[in-house]
Amino acid sequence: MLVSHCILNVNAKVYGIATEPAGCRQIVSELLNNGYGIVQLPCVEQSCFGIRRWGQVKEQMNFPGFRSKCYELLNPVIGQVADFYNNGYEIAAVIGLDGSPACGVNYTCTGNWGGEIGDGYGLQSKIKSLDKLPEYGVMMEVLAEMLDGSGIVTKFLSVDESNPEASTQELISKLIG
Ligand code: SF4
Repeated sequence: MLVSHCILNVNAKVYGIATEPAGCRQIVSELLNNGYGIVQLPCVEQSCFGIRRWGQVKEQMNFPGFRSKCYELLNPVIGQVADFYNNGYEIAAVIGLDGSPACGVNYTCTGNWGGEIGDGYGLQSKIKSLDKLPEYGVMMEVLAEMLDGSGIVTKFLSVDESNPEASTQELISKLIG
């Protein structure tokens, strides 16, 4: 199972937004209890922008430099996953985080964000432009291209951290029926 970094380590999130300490216990323990080994994906947001970054929308990460960084950080992961896959291991799924500009799967976040945030820069209209977008986040797009390019077949699933209990049950039922 390939899992977004902050599912195992919430400290990688934008400072102050973690909803629980450490990681998403229900999800991680259910995966282990059901026999899935876990590969932790890199947090490209932290690598590029650090812990003190602002929350951002997909448009702010959808540029060549960020996509290159995704590729660079994912490359060793793809190497390990290809080794598993070529030796008969099942790559059961990628698990992302819905709403994230990098790791969203069912939806990411969109908005006319950028520029300055002080008075006179249209801050309220920028905030109001925030919306959901039914697309992958940028890192998930790059990951899907890389897996596809390596001939690795898997599926993309996600969790909703605001409802970890229901989200975990839904995830497990999608995995094992
Ligand atoms: S980029 Fe992915 S791993 Fe990093 S904080 Fe955002 S959702 Fe979590």
